[in-house]
Amino acid sequence: MNIHEYQGKEILRKYGVAVPNGKVAFTVNEAVEAAKSLGTDVCVVKAQIHAGGRGKAGGVKVAKNLDEVRTYAEELLGKTLVTHQTGPEGKEVKRLLIEEGCDIQKEYYVGLVLDRATSRVVLMASEEGGTEIEEVAAKTPEKIFKETIDPVVGLTPFQARRIAFNINIPSKLVNQAVKFMTGLYQVFVEKDCSIAEINPLVVTGDGKVMALDAKLNFDSNGLFRQKDILEYRDLDEEDPKEIEASKYDLSYIALDGNIGCMVNGAGLAMATMDIIKYYGGDPANFLDVGGGATEEKVTEAFKIILSDDKVKGIFVNIFGGIMKCDVIAAGVVAASKQVGLQIPLVVRLEGTNVDLGKKILNESGLNIVAAESMADGAQKIVNLVG
Ligand code: ADP
Ligand code: MG
Repeated sequence: MNIHEYQGKEILRKYGVAVPNGKVAFTVNEAVEAAKSLGTDVCVVKAQIHAGGRGKAGGVKVAKNLDEVRTYAEELLGKTLVTHQTGPEGKEVKRLLIEEGCDIQKEYYVGLVLDRATSRVVLMASEEGGTEIEEVAAKTPEKIFKETIDPVVGLTPFQARRIAFNINIPSKLVNQAVKFMTGLYQVFVEKDCSIAEINPLVVTGDGKVMALDAKLNFDSNGLFRQKDILEYRDLDEEDPKEIEASKYDLSYIALDGNIGCMVNGAGLAMATMDIIKYYGGDPANFLDVGGGATEEKVTEAFKIILSDDKVKGIFVNIFGGIMKCDVIAAGVVAASKQVGLQIPLVVRLEGTNVDLGKKILNESGLNIVAAESMADGAQKIVNLVG
């Protein structure tokens, strides 16, 4: 789960990680009031969307007085911001962070991620802050320093110091940087983060080490014990189809293609997407209805797939193990009737109660194309979608 920058900074502040003073605003008047209460000469008006790259896209504005705060707030609220992370459709700005302007001397990068190869949390840092870390990694990988953290001892002071020296934090500020990184690591572990990225971390003219940006992502498997984090969820930032799917406990991820997929089991869902690609098609989604789906769940899954305008055909690929083919068939028939299915539907069923499932489909009166195998089904749907 992703949260906004201002929420991330709220968490960091609680852990003693230095961030500039700031306030969230939902309206222009709130933005001006927030700026007044900060009482600084220079304010920064920052669009709050679940995507980075806002600076380059005009989503971060420096205001020298309250009139400018008003102008920028008017300009940004309600605007669709397109950054390299939002995709071409962009994201609508509904919240702003009004923050103290910072006298930046230098920008750095600090991030914590889980390294799957070593199964450990890794602290990464670079002197090349402000730019995207992917770019630094591609062009000047020698400028990224890493420390692998032992989960038993945690981030040790000497590791944090070594990173601070490697990225050339001024020696007078190394202790502050160590405190910063230690706090960040504590947030990462205690809050079940999957990413904690500070880009930029800055050194200011008056000798402070601060987080100017904060990107915190959380492992959704840990959310059951992170009730306060769950409070930060902003449904406006999520795909409505994915929200609907999560209500029914379906694993659904929207993609850009035009072939809707309904599959059981994550492995089979991945393989189905691969085989569609292999035959020249493009999947519109990843969808795993799970092992023990009911007819209702299948019906909802089908409706979610169809609510995507891009979908020009559907491929149902089910292996009935725990899941029974007749349940899937009944769900497909019920949903097709409810929504008045207009687009091609290819179904490949195999496994438990397959004959009963096929019978239900055949007798439904719906125009369903039966497939004999995965490869056969994939080719058929790719041809039908054209
Ligand atoms: P994004 O990563 O989405 O572009 P950032 O929060 O990193 O957004 O802001 C982009 C840039 O704007 C920063 O690299 C920094 O130079 C500047 N900036 C952001 N916040 C402040 C602030 N409070 N004071 C001064 N400059 C800021
Ligand atoms: Mg940033």
